[in-house]
Amino acid sequence: MVRSLTETGRPRLIWRDAPPFVPTMRPAADAARERGLEPSRAAALVAVRRTAWNAMWAHARSSPVEVGGVLLGAVTRDPVTGRHTIDVTDFVAARGALESSTYFKLTPAAWEHIAQARARLQPDLPIVGWCHTHPDLGVFFSATDRATQRAFFAEPWNVGLVIDPVRNELAVFLGGDATRLPIEAIQVYDAFPSVETPKAWSSPASIVASSRPGPAPRRALAAALALLLAVFWLLRRRRG
Ligand SMILES: [Zn+2]
Repeated sequence: MVRSLTETGRPRLIWRDAPPFVPTMRPAADAARERGLEPSRAAALVAVRRTAWNAMWAHARSSPVEVGGVLLGAVTRDPVTGRHTIDVTDFVAARGALESSTYFKLTPAAWEHIAQARARLQPDLPIVGWCHTHPDLGVFFSATDRATQRAFFAEPWNVGLVIDPVRNELAVFLGGDATRLPIEAIQVYDAFPSVETPKAWSSPASIVASSRPGPAPRRALAAALALLLAVFWLLRRRRG
């Protein structure tokens, strides 16, 4: 379900395209260990795949005004403690949001763009949260940010990240009431096989995020081989 704010600031339903997401049950310690992370003593563990982390920071540093986007991924819930592990695997930059030096707000146009990018990139993954920047303002949740969190990210496993790309700071907030988590609650991991997805990386955000080796090494090898052949040919000519 995707909601959007009307001009009056009231949430309005745009469409409903999937049943509500329900986290799968899994011990939090297992979810952390699988990713090579420390179990979190905080109310939740926010595990961010390195490619998504890099894409988020690259987008944050791309503009002097406030920018943002949404986080896609998966969520598990510990059957004993009820604590969530939020696995952020993809970042989708929001185009068409209201952006200024002190303001970021997701508009219907931004949601439209996000829906399209998500359909291309990871249509099966739920939106687990959002992130936006506070360039040189420090990391906190403003009244607008709290309203955004309540309107769109009110699930107990929804996260809101604030990045200050100038001061190099980050804060993470959890749930509809935007409770700030200690910084240890957010940890970055390298991709591991069970969350790898075969989808082609196509969005601008993911081009930044992609760390897969491209054709460059093969081209370099071909060039080296050609050079070697040329030298060999020259030597032979000299001798002959
Ligand atoms: Zn803000």
